[in-house]
Order: sequence, then C-alpha cells, then structure tokens
Amino acid sequence: MAVLDTSALLNWPIERCRGQIVSTLQQTELASVDEQRWLLIETLEMDWRTASPDQLEMVQDVASKTGDLPRLSDVDIDLLALAMANQTKLITDDYRMKNVAREAGIHVEGVLTTGGKKQWKWILRCIGCRQTEEVSNDAHRSKKDDVKVCDRCGSPMKLKRA
Ligand SMILES: [Zn+2]
Repeated sequence: MAVLDTSALLNWPIERCRGQIVSTLQQTELASVDEQRWLLIETLEMDWRTASPDQLEMVQDVASKTGDLPRLSDVDIDLLALAMANQTKLITDDYRMKNVAREAGIHVEGVLTTGGKKQWKWILRCIGCRQTEEVSNDAHRSKKDDVKVCDRCGSPMKLKRA
C-alpha cells in the first residue's frame, strides 16, 4: 500500500496503480494534465482520500521547519499528510516532497525506480590479471569497444558490477 503522487499516476502501469491511496485533490490536476489517463484511472478502484485539517497541519509544521512549505502545492501537502496518517510509503520524485517526507519519517520511493532495486556501481576489471580499478571521468565511451587496456598486463578491461 502506498500514496501515489500525480507523476506516479501518469507513469506507472495502470494495474500497479489500482487500489493505492490517492488524494481527491489530484482528480482535477490529473484531468487537466492528461484527460485520457484520468478517464482510465477513474475506472480503477482507487482509494481516494482527503487528509484531515489536523493531519495537514502536522505536515505544514514539518515543511515550515525544512523551509519547503512555500513551494509545496495543496496536493503535495495532502499527499504527505495521507502518507503520514496512514503510515504508508509515498511514491514521488519531487525533491521537496522527499525532503519533507524524510523529516517527517515517511518512507519514500521514486516513481521510476522499482521497489527493492538498489543503486549499484560499476568498476573495471582486467580479464587477464583480474586487477580492478574505478572508472575514470575521462573514460572512453562506447557500447562495444573495451573501455581501456590493463596498465599491468595489457589485456582488455571490462565493466563489472562492484
Ligand atoms: Zn591485467
């Protein structure tokens, strides 16, 4: 269960949106941004809610503390309040909402990153002597060619997950 911001409603596969918590304030927003999408979302059994004044006030307090309040919309505040009140995670890529959510102890996930997947880092590893090194910022970029040859043995170095 999660609270979805409008970019999630626009970008997530429709089946993944079904049954999630959304704010009634998003209905007009969604309809004006993408009417086709709204017509589709309207047919789903979404959990439409509106935060209570107390809940909104709690978010406003946190957001004024972080300094994000002046740039948050009514929809943003409602979504944060719904996530806080229902103790569910919030799906958003908005950095201001993320910032307030962190301060409020709300768990946030990005819209375009699927849950559970962690970020990873690439390193170079020599196919000969197995020496590894960091990818430098002036690395040769090509989809096919080797990035570089090993300084120690001259074999090609390949990108590997660290
Ligand atoms: Zn080597």
